[in-house]
This record gives sequence, C-alpha cells and structure tokens, in this order.
Amino acid sequence: MVKPLPKRFNPDLLARDNACFEITFAQKNLKRLEAIILTAENDVRCSAVFSRLKRHVHVKGSFQTVVEMQCQRCLQAMDVNIDEPYALVFVGDEEAAEALPEQFDPIVLDENGDMGVYDLFEDEIIIHVPAFPKHVDSALCGVEKTEFGELPKAVSEGKANPFDALKDLRLD
Ligand SMILES: [Zn+2]
Repeated sequence: MVKPLPKRFNPDLLARDNACFEITFAQKNLKRLEAIILTAENDVRCSAVFSRLKRHVHVKGSFQTVVEMQCQRCLQAMDVNIDEPYALVFVGDEEAAEALPEQFDPIVLDENGDMGVYDLFEDEIIIHVPAFPKHVDSALCGVEKTEFGELPKAVSEGKANPFDALKDLRLD
C-alpha cells in the first residue's frame, strides 16, 4: 500500500504499519541543491519505507530527479538524471549518531522527534550530484559538435561512412 508522505512526520509513528510512502516536491525547496545546479525547475520523486530495528527506526527507498548542470567540457547546459537508493537510521542527536555502528547512515531528528522531508533528502541528493558533469553521449556535447560538425545520419547508423574517403587524402 502506498501512502503520501507528509512534509513533516514522526518516523516512530510511520514505522508502525509497513506502508510504502511516496512524495513529489519541487527542487526549489532544497536551497543548498539549488545553489549548485543551473536551474531548479524539476521535481524530486521519493519513496520511503519505515521499519523498526531494535531501538532505531530505519528508512529506505529511492529518489529520482533530473538536475540541470553545466557540462565541464562544452560548458552547455545538460541534464543529469539521479536515480538512487538510500537507507538511513533516525537518531535523536549527534551523540547517538556517533554511537551507531559504521554500516548505518544516521540522520538527526529535531527536538520533537520529527523529521522534515527536505532535511531527509537534501544531503542524499547532493551527494549524488556529480562534481564534474560531462555529456556522456559525445554527439550531444557542444565541444564535439564544433570540432567535427554533426555526423550524417548514415554514419551514426553504421552505414557507408563518407569520411572514409578522407583516408586516401594523406598529405604526408
Ligand atoms: Zn558537453
């Protein structure tokens, strides 16, 4: 069963039924993310399942968003798709975070034991924003285009390559 995840919630209460929660929100709500991408026009889609393991409430799921960044090769805008799983453990304070076994990623609740959706996801998303984004497909990269021009359709489909003729034009 999928339920909408409230913007602010108490993980302890959500861990009591094994529901899967989903939420979609605008990137603009994540100010630190907005500061490192070109424009924050897209949405973030997240899923979350809460469970209790011993003394702690765990949350896991995935998030998906597309961030607009500047290609570090051609300096044009490019879209980077971020689609990642996450798993976090809620703790009451920094001290409890320190005490967690190393394999768990802690996230600190507020003084009421609550958590905000933006606080839950902002760091996780920022971790996956590439530091030096580059067009993966060189045909899309502006640098490749200015060097070689756009390739005819026949070339990209593996048919006769008109540039093969150039091999015979050695000038050495
Ligand atoms: Zn590029």
